Amino acid sequence: MKILVPVKRVVDYNVKIRVDKETNTVDLNNIKMSINPFDEIAVEEAIRIKEAGQCDEIVVVSLGPEQSKETIRNALAMGADKGIHVKTDHSPEPLLVAKILAKVCEKEDYDLIILGKQSIDDDCNQTGQMLSALLNRSLGTYASKVEIENDTVTVTREIDGGLQTIKLKKPAVLTTDLRLNEPRYASLPNIMKAKQKTIDELDPSDLGIDMTPKVSTKKVEEPPKRVGGGKVESIEELVDKLKNVSGVI
Ligand code: AMP
Repeated sequence: MKILVPVKRVVDYNVKIRVDKETNTVDLNNIKMSINPFDEIAVEEAIRIKEAGQCDEIVVVSLGPEQSKETIRNALAMGADKGIHVKTDHSPEPLLVAKILAKVCEKEDYDLIILGKQSIDDDCNQTGQMLSALLNRSLGTYASKVEIENDTVTVTREIDGGLQTIKLKKPAVLTTDLRLNEPRYASLPNIMKAKQKTIDELDPSDLGIDMTPKVSTKKVEEPPKRVGGGKVESIEELVDKLKNVSGVI
């Protein structure tokens, strides 16, 4: 069995982002970038499936600029076997990512594709769903537990108000939720070994994909500054303020 894990390079979750008013974009100068946390969980899950003897090869793929190779190397150091870098100036919108991933799956077939449920930069939460539709494959989103038995993948999904368990037929597309696992740290020997692992390069034009975006960003702005709160002496005063000052009730 082969598993494909798409990994995106995003602004590290600890960074407080700033808006560059001149370019009307998020300022990425001297900013720490990391693997999208949900994708790290996806890599970890693929490695656990391999360690359980249920997978022969894990391939990670990233779309983005040259630096995306660092993200791929991180995943290789965790334990993935091979990388694919699809060269683009920046990470494209979800439909284009899904179209490219579908082409990557045409070149070589994968029994499972494990994506993150969402990228923490654009918060789209779309790529996995679009990919499953393009490939016409079963889909298990927000996975918090994955069990594989022969051709069946049992996925416990985090849904509003509880957990839902579904059974999918392979080949399938899964997206990870936070509680699926706790990703391992790459050990120093594995970081060294990862340097020898192969990263194939692809160009979207080799895949015959028209990269013209359908979505454009009109404006990027910081959220309004929070104003300080105040203390009230009684419930009556609170209700009065909610009614007459803030006007929320
Ligand atoms: P999104 O739909 O943008 O929230 O992203 C959902 C998932 O799609 C991510 O967690 C990744 O697994 C995958 N993905 C999105 N963009 C990329 C990219 N540029 N390269 C590789 N994988 C990506």
